[in-house]
Amino acid sequence: MGQIGLDPSTTYHHLKKKEVLDLAAMMKGFKMRVNGTLSIEKAFITGGGVSLKEIVPNEMASKLMDRLFFCGEILDIHGYTGGFNITAAFSTGFVAGLHAAQRASEVKA
Ligand SMILES: Cc1cc2nc3c(=O)[nH]c(=O)nc-3n(C[C@H](O)[C@H](O)[C@H](O)COP(=O)(O)OP(=O)(O)OC[C@H]3O[C@@H](n4cnc5c(N)ncnc54)[C@H](O)[C@@H]3O)c2cc1C
Repeated sequence: MGQIGLDPSTTYHHLKKKEVLDLAAMMKGFKMRVNGTLSIEKAFITGGGVSLKEIVPNEMASKLMDRLFFCGEILDIHGYTGGFNITAAFSTGFVAGLHAAQRASEVKA
């Protein structure tokens, strides 16, 4: 945020079009230097992500923003290896997709 001069407390709805474009360009062009790797056991799943407290679980909808849905790795879920993570990705993806499509058809109607 500081890199493009945005106040971190500004919410999306208060951003000007240029600020949205600058933010998107910064996020898409974000560079980082990788300085090593851990073992394969540590490489299966990303730690952290969108807090489950911010999600309606039976819809995978955001509690903070209408018509925003989350699934898979973006969530703050990390299970042991052995199928738990891929199952979580598939099941949250199914629920999120179903409800996103339903919500989209309500908006059109
Ligand atoms: C080496 C390895 C081994 C694993 N083994 C297991 C296992 O044994 N059991 C298990 O349960 N889980 C395992 N996992 C974890 C599991 O594969 C993931 O949790 C799961 O695939 C996450 O699914 P996802 O759809 O959320 O994300 P992803 O599968 O990462 O899918 C995200 C997709 O988005 C695409 N994408 C990214 N940015 C953009 C963009 N800007 N525009 C368009 N597309 C974009 C990516 O190319 C990718 O195809 C393993 C993971 C790794 C890395």
